[in-house]
Amino acid sequence: MAARAVEEVAHRQNGGAVTAILHRALDEGVIDGVVTVTGDPWTLEPGSTLITSAGDLVQHAGSRFAWRVPLLSVLKEAVIRQSCRHLAVVGLPCAATAVRKMKESSNDLLRPFGSAVRVIIGLCCTETFEYDGLVGEVLRARHGIDPWAVSRLAVRGGLQVTTLSGEVLEIPLAELDSCVRPGCRICTDFSARDADISACSAGSPEGWTTIVLRTPEGEGIWSRACAGGTLEVSEAVDLPVMERLARRKMDRPDPAQGRNR
Ligand SMILES: Cc1cc2nc3c(=O)[nH]c(=O)nc-3n(C[C@H](O)[C@H](O)[C@H](O)COP(=O)(O)OP(=O)(O)OC[C@H]3O[C@@H](n4cnc5c(N)ncnc54)[C@H](O)[C@@H]3O)c2cc1C
Ligand code: SF4
Repeated sequence: MAARAVEEVAHRQNGGAVTAILHRALDEGVIDGVVTVTGDPWTLEPGSTLITSAGDLVQHAGSRFAWRVPLLSVLKEAVIRQSCRHLAVVGLPCAATAVRKMKESSNDLLRPFGSAVRVIIGLCCTETFEYDGLVGEVLRARHGIDPWAVSRLAVRGGLQVTTLSGEVLEIPLAELDSCVRPGCRICTDFSARDADISACSAGSPEGWTTIVLRTPEGEGIWSRACAGGTLEVSEAVDLPVMERLARRKMDRPDPAQGRNR
């Protein structure tokens, strides 16, 4: 289905549905913190962050495409120092898989972290970019755009860069090829199969988020947000578009083997 936040989420990437779901869960005490990736608006540098207030969550909506931080390092801060016991983790498919493995592990060192995670929200992902390559080489050196002049980044066909003055520059993805993180070239998970809820733009109209509920926990946190009136929901979603992207990523040639997986 497709969803969007009823209340305005200024920096939302698509429908703001991910923020709305988490906002409601924090307000109700269903979760006591959100482990996610935020971006410094001055440098666009990503950082692993623990968010415990709904206001901060809204402030940090939006996607960070230059991702180089160990998302899960902040789990230590959340679980050990701040004693969070009911966390939501927002992450790309690789991070969702790591958290799922942590939750299923019987390892004594991992168990306290895994059992403190109540729900995993996965953001669909084709690839991410090295920070220095994207911000330093492509935006700054090649296109003369300083990071503090960027108001929004979005991937729709190419990388759309919107500046504070309202200009929109479209950079073809081929131009970003040298910045793609090496691990992303062999990754086959588009839709965050290990998450409780997957979220993406593919398949939904502009301004909406496509939502896939995968587990009872995902359905639980979703239905509480719906019951609380924080989400507008539509069935107008083109799931085959999402499925095609997932299939294309699964089938992409393995550069090490020179064959499809
Ligand atoms: C690197 C990246 C690549 C993506 N690629 C695709 C794609 O190819 N096709 C597609 O359809 N959708 C893709 N998405 C998903 C899409 O951009 C949106 O995240 C999704 O549609 C949810 O939108 P929303 O408005 O509901 O989220 P919002 O309400 O804006 O909330 C987004 C949440 O995600 C968190 N977040 C942002 N970046 C990261 C990150 N790097 N790691 C962990 N948490 C993060 C924020 O802190 C915030 O809590 C990608 C997202 C990212 C971050
Ligand atoms: S492409 Fe795969 S490895 Fe790269 S960030 Fe996305 S999910 Fe992680």
